[in-house]
Amino acid sequence: MHPFSLSRADDPAKTIAAHAQDGQVAFIAGGTDLLGLMKDRATFPEHLLDINRLPGMSRIEARPDGGLRIGALARMSDVAAHPQVRQRFPVIAEGLLFAASGQLRNMASMGGNIMQRTRCAYFRDDDDAPCNKRRPGSGCSALQGINRNHAIFGWSDACVATHPSDVAVAFAALDAFVIVRGVQGERSIPFTEFHRLPGGTPERDNVLERGDLIVAIEVPARPEGRASHYLKVRDRQSYEFALVSAAAAVAANGRRIRSARLAMGGVAHKPWRLSAAEVALRGVSLDDGARLKAAIAASFADARPLEHNAFKVELAQRVALRALQTAGART
Ligand SMILES: Cc1cc2nc3c(=O)[nH]c(=O)nc-3n(C[C@H](O)[C@H](O)[C@H](O)COP(=O)(O)OP(=O)(O)OC[C@H]3O[C@@H](n4cnc5c(N)ncnc54)[C@H](O)[C@@H]3O)c2cc1C
Ligand code: SF4
Repeated sequence: MHPFSLSRADDPAKTIAAHAQDGQVAFIAGGTDLLGLMKDRATFPEHLLDINRLPGMSRIEARPDGGLRIGALARMSDVAAHPQVRQRFPVIAEGLLFAASGQLRNMASMGGNIMQRTRCAYFRDDDDAPCNKRRPGSGCSALQGINRNHAIFGWSDACVATHPSDVAVAFAALDAFVIVRGVQGERSIPFTEFHRLPGGTPERDNVLERGDLIVAIEVPARPEGRASHYLKVRDRQSYEFALVSAAAAVAANGRRIRSARLAMGGVAHKPWRLSAAEVALRGVSLDDGARLKAAIAASFADARPLEHNAFKVELAQRVALRALQTAGART
């Protein structure tokens, strides 16, 4: 492991300035992803700034209007267990509970979760396999290599990786916001615009710049929030990343869908919203399986599977349908 120094941050403005001024500084929260990447020699920060004591960033606030503000340093397990999170947005609590292990969730922060990097084995492996995310310009081993776990949407020849966060899929479906404080002050980034597609610069996972500190994630009140569900399919039942997952949330008049929100994990470099399906689902009965299936298929016309993951095209549609029906049963 590369040598590094560690110091504890207590002042937000100084913390942001230190990160903005020195490209060798990295924030560390729970350390459950960053330290693994450092051990795998996928990143080499020279100085870690421990942000855990920054004030006010661990709070979970249930707002009077029905929304939530979740501090970036709130732990995954605390958010999953919060009664108002479970009641208002079951999809968030479920997305968290299906992730990692109890011990990891106790340690891991919400900000760190949405910042975690891909689980592409070529990126994580400590060897010389070409990987544009690890070494820009070196090539993509997964494009012609083993790509069973990789993307079916939005990939480029430079990178076919998927984003691994579960709860990010729920936040994307709910049109949450990432609240970021940087050298220019605070700004709010729509969740669906926070993570990037790889294009020609897959080394950049999201739109943050140097000096940007995530302070919170805000989830506005949503009529679909209570009738929501997260479904994750993986190679083993626990302690595994998603092969394919879906976050679904529904508002209905009786059994007829008034509005639906659908996003998928394990299929793209970012949580993948099924916008065409959401439009097609309006007015469809939650009991009409054939029409629900046809509406979901509207979002898969542009799926582009790789050599080893064509099965994901069918699997993802089935997972989206099941998630939608389970959410619908909660209306
Ligand atoms: C074995 C294992 C299994 C896992 N399984 C799953 C799973 O099934 N599903 C899932 O979703 N996740 C899974 N994870 C990932 C886990 O959820 C993340 O490692 C964790 O959420 C990261 O949070 P952290 O606080 O430890 O982040 P850290 O490791 O401290 O930081 C991660 C990154 O975020 C940056 N960062 C942290 N906080 C901020 C902030 N406030 N502002 C800006 N940048 C910040 C850091 O600089 C670093 O780049 C798994 C992890 C492990 C090790
Ligand atoms: S898919 Fe992306 S992360 Fe994986 S080898 Fe290719 S460039 Fe690297």
